[in-house]
Amino acid sequence: MKNVDQIKQQLAEVVRHYNSKGWSPATSTNYSFRLPDNPTVVYVSKSGIDKHYFAPTDFMEVDLNGKALPAFEGIRPSAETLIHCTLYQLFPEMHCIVHSHSVYSVLHSAVESDAVRLEGYEVLKGYEGIKTHEVSVDLPIFDNTQDMTAFAAELTAQKERLTIPAFIMRKHGTYAWGRDLFEAKRHLETTEYLLEVEWKLRK
Ligand SMILES: [Zn+2]
Repeated sequence: MKNVDQIKQQLAEVVRHYNSKGWSPATSTNYSFRLPDNPTVVYVSKSGIDKHYFAPTDFMEVDLNGKALPAFEGIRPSAETLIHCTLYQLFPEMHCIVHSHSVYSVLHSAVESDAVRLEGYEVLKGYEGIKTHEVSVDLPIFDNTQDMTAFAAELTAQKERLTIPAFIMRKHGTYAWGRDLFEAKRHLETTEYLLEVEWKLRK
């Protein structure tokens, strides 16, 4: 199994790569992981870091309620840390969460109500468990808010809408998760690719 430092390094690389794709403008977005043998400690990106320069040292440790562990008291976790913690509680087998503020997630959610329907695409097989393009899934859209406690409650109450490992926050961005970094990355890239295709197809 990979150690913490290796994962920090790999996830930091992914964060910088996503920044180069335009998915995290102006210090936005946040990322986290946890280890299967210590699942109550969440390593989450610190707030206010320019993602172009994101480094392995830019993670801090919080508990499953989003509270900074003693060694990190006084350091501000991302405002959306509670979303990460809630997803880990809803999906105990998941160990990595990635987020984007992509243009296509914002465009779709500006014009669509509850979900983006994704149907018949080969790349749908990027979602764990999907084996054929002959499938139709709904990528759920949740309304954006600055009240993360309310948003966490909403996610929990509507867990049955999370049939694929991703969702959109309206006019905000995409969240995706997986059992490890490799899988979370695949799920976010699957989602972003399909959002771009769908948008270009419909216009
Ligand atoms: Zn965000």
